[in-house]
Amino acid sequence: MHTARRTHGFTESVIRGMTRLARVHNAINLAQGFPDFPAHEAVKEAAVAAIRADVNQYAVTWGAPRLRAAVAAKMLAFYGMAVDPETEVTVTCGATEAMAAVMLALVDPRDEVVVFEPWYENYGPDAILSGATPVHVPLSATEPLDLDRLARAFGPRTRAIILNSPNNPTGKVFSRAELQGIAELCQRHNAYVFTDEIYEHILYTGEHIPMATLPGMAERTITISGASKTFAITGWRIGTIIAPAPLTAAIRKVHDFLTVGAPAPLQEAVATAMETLPRSYYTDMAEAYRRRRDLLCGALSRAGFRLTPPQGAYYVLADYGAFSQVDDTTFATQLILEAGVATVPYSSFTTEPQPPPIVRFAFCKTESLLAEAGERLQAWGAKR
Ligand code: GLN
Repeated sequence: MHTARRTHGFTESVIRGMTRLARVHNAINLAQGFPDFPAHEAVKEAAVAAIRADVNQYAVTWGAPRLRAAVAAKMLAFYGMAVDPETEVTVTCGATEAMAAVMLALVDPRDEVVVFEPWYENYGPDAILSGATPVHVPLSATEPLDLDRLARAFGPRTRAIILNSPNNPTGKVFSRAELQGIAELCQRHNAYVFTDEIYEHILYTGEHIPMATLPGMAERTITISGASKTFAITGWRIGTIIAPAPLTAAIRKVHDFLTVGAPAPLQEAVATAMETLPRSYYTDMAEAYRRRRDLLCGALSRAGFRLTPPQGAYYVLADYGAFSQVDDTTFATQLILEAGVATVPYSSFTTEPQPPPIVRFAFCKTESLLAEAGERLQAWGAKR
């Protein structure tokens, strides 16, 4: 039967595939990055209140005015970044729709989009759906960004680069010097930066610097973030886009015809969260993630994996070369069946023909679940 050619250039999500396999085999799911702990009471209460108040119909297509105002206030408070909520903010169904809408609105067929590798698995398909060609540049989790290598990826067709910091899956947090280097390349080649800042509040070292706050970059940066990770509500699907007004106008048109809008009562609840939760909410959250990171990384090291603890986000790439030579998909499947722990094979983040022996663990889970996973892995590792 006929299927559109544009769907042939990418596969189904490996992350969600691993989640399905974990369910079938009753494994602990450290594959897909979603929290297994509750959202803050105030956030849940705000959603209930909005539904009780009959906020049941479409919000304004580009986002409830309160939420857009809250996004602008947050950018000013956290980063000193001035944003006009009327003309520069769009609310979407998650950062996932945000990135797709941005690409469809701003990228032409045959344009090139620079994507760091390993990448978060959406970016390639987003580029392909918009007819663009992704150009891959290796990103090291531990070494500073190789700007000469990056410069070679830019050319006359480069429309944009995708920048995800804190980074999934490497855990890298880009430094100001690295951002500056990327900014200069974009200015030289008249390219946009599409950022994915969904992990902006989850970092353990360094600071989060939005690309749009660098001199001269607000006019060419599209800042994507959302509520999923910050408020542990990945299923609510509330994402945000900040872009200069002329770009926002094009993005809003695409967003309108894709989804009309994000869930109205949940937009109100996220606005309440952003308006009312104190700064300590964000620092406590990062601290809790640091404990989860240290717990899992410790257990993985003791089990025999080699790793560098991430600087941000809630994933760790772990090298299993010490106990197995099989390919990463085989290994991830074995780990589900034999240890009862699900991961994501590295090959889903790269096109490298010979991917290294690495799997990704997510640690956005309760400490007790992480401890249980650690015990299973250490028991399994001891038998190898
Ligand atoms: N961002 C999460 C991850 O990398 C969830 C992916 C997804 O299923 N949308 O695991």
